[in-house]
Amino acid sequence: MKSLKDIPNEELFSLLKSWGQPAFRVKQLRTWLYGPRFAATYDEMTNLPATLREKLAETVAPFALKVVQRLEDPNDGTVKWLSELLDGNTIETVLIRVPHRTTVCVSTQVGCAVRCVFCASGRYGLVRDLTKAEIIDQVMLACRELGRRVDNVVVMGMGEPLMNLDALVSALDELGSPETIDLGNRHVTISTSGIVPGIRALAELRRPWNLALSLHAVNDEERARIIPTEHRYPLEEIFAACEYHRELTNRMLTLEYALIDGRNDSRSTLERLAAIARRLHAKVNLIPCNSNASNCKSPSLRRCHEALAFLEQSGVQATLRISHGQGILAACGQLKFKI
Ligand code: SAH
Ligand code: SF4
Repeated sequence: MKSLKDIPNEELFSLLKSWGQPAFRVKQLRTWLYGPRFAATYDEMTNLPATLREKLAETVAPFALKVVQRLEDPNDGTVKWLSELLDGNTIETVLIRVPHRTTVCVSTQVGCAVRCVFCASGRYGLVRDLTKAEIIDQVMLACRELGRRVDNVVVMGMGEPLMNLDALVSALDELGSPETIDLGNRHVTISTSGIVPGIRALAELRRPWNLALSLHAVNDEERARIIPTEHRYPLEEIFAACEYHRELTNRMLTLEYALIDGRNDSRSTLERLAAIARRLHAKVNLIPCNSNASNCKSPSLRRCHEALAFLEQSGVQATLRISHGQGILAACGQLKFKI
C-alpha cells in the first residue's frame, strides 16, 4: 500500500473523482494532514464522510510511520522515536527543544552505504532509500508532538541525504509550500559526508537550504581511516563543490568535526582545520565522538573546550555540540542498533 503523501496531487484528485467525490475533498484532506491537527489517521478527519474514510483506509496509508518506541530525555526534553515503516524496516527521528526553538532531525535512508567507522547507521550498509512521505511524516511526528509547526529541520539522522536527493528535495519542497507548513528554506540544514555530485546537484537547485559537511579529518589519509569505503571523495574536490554551493546559494557552510581522542585533535590538526574553515568561509561545529568503538573515543570535555577556544582564537566561528538526549542514545542509529 502506498502512503498518502507519496501520491501526487493530480493522482489524488482523480482517485477521489473516480469515487464520485467533489474536488474540495483534497483541500480538506490537506488541512487535516498539515495542520493544525497534523492528522495521522482517517478517523481524526471528522468532516470527511465515513464511507470515504473507509475507502481511503483500504487504498492508501494515511501515515508512513508507526511509532514503536518513544523515548524522552527527562533532563532536556529531547524526544526520540523509533518508527516502523510500512515494509517493517525501522528508522529514527529526534526532536530537540531549546528555549524558543524546536528542531527535528530526520533520517533519509534505512542504513547508509558510506559506513563511517563511528556511526551506528552505517554499520550494516544501506538497506533502502526513504520515500518522500517517509521523510515528510518524520517532520509531522514532531509537529504532532508539539501541537504546532516545528521551527527547524536538520537532515542529520540515518543515511546520506545526497544519495537520496530526489525524495529529499520533493519532501523539502512540499514542506516549504504555503499549502503545507510553509517551512522557510533557511530553516533547513542538510548534512553530507561529502558526496561531490550531490553537493553540485544541490547547488544547482539554488534553494537556500544550509549545507553542513561532515569533515572529521584535515587530510585524505586520515579521512580514509574514518570513511573507508568507495563513497569517500578527495577533499579538494569536496571543497571545490562546497565553494560552488556557496556561489550559487549564498549560504554559509558548516563543517562538522567529530573529535576523536588522539586521531584528529592535535594542535597542528586543529590549525589545519582552522585554515580550511577560513578558506571556505565556514563555521565549525565540534562534536565529541560518541561511539563504543575503542579507537573512536571522545577527548575529555576539557580538551573539547580547549579545541573550541583554539578555533575561536584562530578567528573561526565555532561551536561545541552539547549532546542533547544523552540519556536516550541520541546519535543517529544508536537506538535502532543499541550500541
Ligand atoms: N550522513 C550525513 C548526515 C547524518 S550524520 C553525514 O554524515 O553528514 C550527522 C552527523 O553526525 C555527521 O556529522 C556524522 O558524522 C555525525 N555522527 C554520526 N555518528 C556519530 C557519532 N557516533 N559520534 C559523533 N558524531 C557522529
Ligand atoms: Fe552515513 Fe552519515 Fe553515518 Fe557516515 S555519519 S555512515 S554518512 S549516516
